[in-house]
Amino acid sequence: MSSPIGETLTYPVAKGGIRPEKDTFLGGENPLESMVARFDEAARHLKLEPGLSKVLKHPEKQLIVAVPVLMDNGETEVFTGYRVLHNTARGPGKGGIRFDMQVTLDEVKALAAWMTWKCAVVNLPFGGSKGGVICDPSTMSMAELERLTRRYTAGIIDLLGPDSDVPAPDVNTNERMMAWIMDTYSMQKRHTVTAVVTGKPIAMGGSLGRREATGRGVMISAVEALKLRNQPVAGTRVVVQGFGNVGSISAELMAAQGMKILAVSDKEGGIYNKNGLDIKEVLAHVKQHKYLKSYAKAERLSNSDLLELECDVLVPAALENVITKDNAARIKAKIICEGANGPTAADADPILHDAGILVVPDILANAGGVTVSYFEWVQDRGGYFWDEETVNSRLEKIMVSSFAECAVMSQRSKVSMRIAAYMVAIDRVATVHRLRGMYA
Ligand code: NAD
Repeated sequence: MSSPIGETLTYPVAKGGIRPEKDTFLGGENPLESMVARFDEAARHLKLEPGLSKVLKHPEKQLIVAVPVLMDNGETEVFTGYRVLHNTARGPGKGGIRFDMQVTLDEVKALAAWMTWKCAVVNLPFGGSKGGVICDPSTMSMAELERLTRRYTAGIIDLLGPDSDVPAPDVNTNERMMAWIMDTYSMQKRHTVTAVVTGKPIAMGGSLGRREATGRGVMISAVEALKLRNQPVAGTRVVVQGFGNVGSISAELMAAQGMKILAVSDKEGGIYNKNGLDIKEVLAHVKQHKYLKSYAKAERLSNSDLLELECDVLVPAALENVITKDNAARIKAKIICEGANGPTAADADPILHDAGILVVPDILANAGGVTVSYFEWVQDRGGYFWDEETVNSRLEKIMVSSFAECAVMSQRSKVSMRIAAYMVAIDRVATVHRLRGMYA
């Protein structure tokens, strides 16, 4: 294994190392270029001042830290960690922490910017940030991961805080790591600070409904998209790529709305039944057998064939860059509702738009997760916790109104929903910059 500074990482595959909770979602494209391409188009439509455009393209802060960790075999390994604050004009930075061998500074910068736009689309009082450590958690023991998480937290602690930068889980990190971040930060501050991180266990300040929030937001976005197209919800044929947190919960909640889930997939491939899958049964199967492939009441198909199935709604909820200029013309879905971050490469956008496919972009469709993270932060700061019904109904209100704002922008400016969502977001951030003015 090679580190970004060219040294060989020697840390061993730990016996009994944990299975990563999340997989690697990295495609070939530079995500920063994809982000900038969409930003530039939206900025052009908004006639954004060139100076402000420059400000909004540059991250406010980029921190690179060396993270020394004592490994279980007694050797010391040094990992590289990043934390990027893209923009904090509207409030504290908000963004996940990713543990993955593919983490790069460019990727973290792009993801931090996407968080700025995502928070602004749903009008949360947050800016955007992101963090990552180059490591392979599948080869590390729990104890090594705890030491890595704590030392990385100590390395970036000057940026963190409920009023400055609030991390959350992302690829290969989970509520366990969020608990360690909260503890490390709190020990340094000499008092418990629950609001420094979201996606925590419920027992220590997490929010009810957070686990399901992204999938719930995807389902709500799909329903709104169907209404926009005057399509009935019941009987809608849905295909979902990825059957993890986002994909499986989206499928379950969409099925509960009366939609017919034709196919779902994981990294081992997909399963398809033209009459619709029994999602509860599929979920039970995955719980027992881990992967979908041995599920009997369906045909098997590849992930690339799955994307090209005849359906009404396609939900890519696994990887980045799965829809590109190479396969965009073969997509038959009428609506694409992006559960994953960055599933569509920028070069596929015009092909999908010209084909009349309505794409509900990631920064809108998967914003349910950060919205309930915001609720978690509010509940922690208020010290008063809401029941699940309150969480879900407030989430629905925000998703429905945000969708409507983007749809109006799309119609008014004659642009795709993606560019409209960027326009809504950039306009909100730019307005605050204009009102605040330039310091010094
Ligand atoms: P997860 O690890 O729970 O699930 C990922 C799923 O994708 C798994 O079923 C995995 O088998 C599958 N997968 C991996 N490689 C694949 C491949 N090559 N082809 C098809 N499927 C493959 O992750 P998640 O939390 O569901 O996140 C999925 C996506 O949604 C990511 O892009 C993530 O950044 C984004 N997202 C997640 C949240 C959240 O709250 N979890 C919020 C916003 C965005």
